[in-house]
Amino acid sequence: MPRLIADRAVLHATSEMGRVMAAARAREQAGERVLHLERGEPDFDTPPHVVEALARAARDGKTHYPDPRGERALRDALVAKLARENGIAAHPDDLVVTSGGTHGLFVAMQALLSRGDELLVLSPHWMALPHLVGFVDGATWRSFPAYMDVGTGAWSASDFEARLRAALGPATRGLYVNTPNNPTGVVLTREQLEAIARVAIERDLWVLSDEAYEHLLFDGAKHVSLASLPGMAERTVSVYTFSKSYAMTGWRIGYLVCPPAMRAVVGPIVAFYSSYGVFPASQIAAAAAVTGPQDCVEAMRASYDERRRLLLEGLAGCPAIRVPAPRGAFYAFADVSAARGDRDVWALIEEWIGLGVAALPGTAFGPAFGDWVRLAMCTRREDVAEAARLLARHHAGAAAR
Ligand code: PMP
Repeated sequence: MPRLIADRAVLHATSEMGRVMAAARAREQAGERVLHLERGEPDFDTPPHVVEALARAARDGKTHYPDPRGERALRDALVAKLARENGIAAHPDDLVVTSGGTHGLFVAMQALLSRGDELLVLSPHWMALPHLVGFVDGATWRSFPAYMDVGTGAWSASDFEARLRAALGPATRGLYVNTPNNPTGVVLTREQLEAIARVAIERDLWVLSDEAYEHLLFDGAKHVSLASLPGMAERTVSVYTFSKSYAMTGWRIGYLVCPPAMRAVVGPIVAFYSSYGVFPASQIAAAAAVTGPQDCVEAMRASYDERRRLLLEGLAGCPAIRVPAPRGAFYAFADVSAARGDRDVWALIEEWIGLGVAALPGTAFGPAFGDWVRLAMCTRREDVAEAARLLARHHAGAAAR
């Protein structure tokens, strides 16, 4: 037999999501109900005018090879959106359209990281991050706990900056920042982003700014793009996606904004080393999404906000599960140290699946988060409320730690 799998550890990655989903499926196959609070996938359909734009563009023959950097009509629409919403003055040549934010992060990491480089990942962080870094041979990452202090109100600029400076190692080349944050729902303020920017400029680091949830904001939170801060545009790669704002997860479309110094490499990474671009009709439809009415984005945001309130209210009287109120994205990150007791967090996850509630363990988002569980609010409001009720009843009587 020939050797069919290359000798690269990164090819043997396992997924916490896969483990939770398999356990949930086993319960469903046994005829029991499971409330799905594990997946970060909007339950809405893509707005009809976007679907229509796709059909029209396909009928009009937008079915040939794309410009691998992205259709000019979409890049022009995005340049206007970046100026209007993000305070980023980009040239169309500094944008690349990608197969979702995942591919955007892949392209960015391939462009930015060399063998021996380290990425400091502000944590907790989205699960795919370690895989995306690991796919650059010889590059490494380290988790830097950053969002919990913000979520609990304990954050201070001086303490944060001192800790961040102390965490930088000789091989650290860049920072990964994600606001609004998956999994905590933390939205970094301008002041907090300025603290990150000061350290990045002082230590001459680049920053990978993942803004996948830029439109999902609650309680008056405002999204600030790192690249809009003074001195940051030239060192920031910003990643965006249509997946969350417009419920377009299956379309696989997003975009990267890079400093002009990266023009020569990001296009070829898309063209020669990955996808050769995105279906042109999809890109025309994505342009319709950004230039068209935005009330669909607001309607979905308001619905997540309602589910968020139901979850917080449902768990308010349950000291064993403490949930700092998320201000963005559609996740709550719950402190379950009291509910878990001395057990591994997986024991708690399995206990909850036994109750009919699927959730992800905090360890999926960084090694330091075994006391936490992520609850995603992308399922029906009734299911979110029911999950909170089941969990509160199950842990009634348990005291906070
Ligand atoms: N960044 C973050 C923080 C995410 O949570 C996700 C998806 N869950 C992505 C990027 C990528 O999403 P997509 O590939 O669907 O655009």
